[in-house]
Amino acid sequence: MNRQMKISLILCCFILIVAILLTPNPFDGKTAGAFYYQLDFAWCITPYACVHEAGHMLDEERGWTSESSEYQMAIVNLRNSSIEWQSWLDGAPDKNKYQEIYAEMYYIYLTSPNTIPRELEKFYQ
Ligand SMILES: [Zn+2]
Repeated sequence: MNRQMKISLILCCFILIVAILLTPNPFDGKTAGAFYYQLDFAWCITPYACVHEAGHMLDEERGWTSESSEYQMAIVNLRNSSIEWQSWLDGAPDKNKYQEIYAEMYYIYLTSPNTIPRELEKFYQ
């Protein structure tokens, strides 16, 4: 093994370790799924997580509906007009907030279709 091969091997190991440390780990007992839109790849280990990650995939396939001003405005209006949805929406994570709301609403849309707010149905049909 020459010097350049050794450097390449060390670099590959470093990148692999960083990737392992920075990405959700399916074996950590907390994370049940993840979607890597750059790779167009998702994994999940529970039915709930599989539907949630499918929601992220649908969101991406449709050009990130969750990031559109129309969707975000609908969420803000829902929050301001419904006390029951207000606390649910306030519980959404700050990171990728609207993407996570979209995926969670997709779960509701599929599992309890009568529960999803009528003004959001069009984003999931
Ligand atoms: Zn998510």
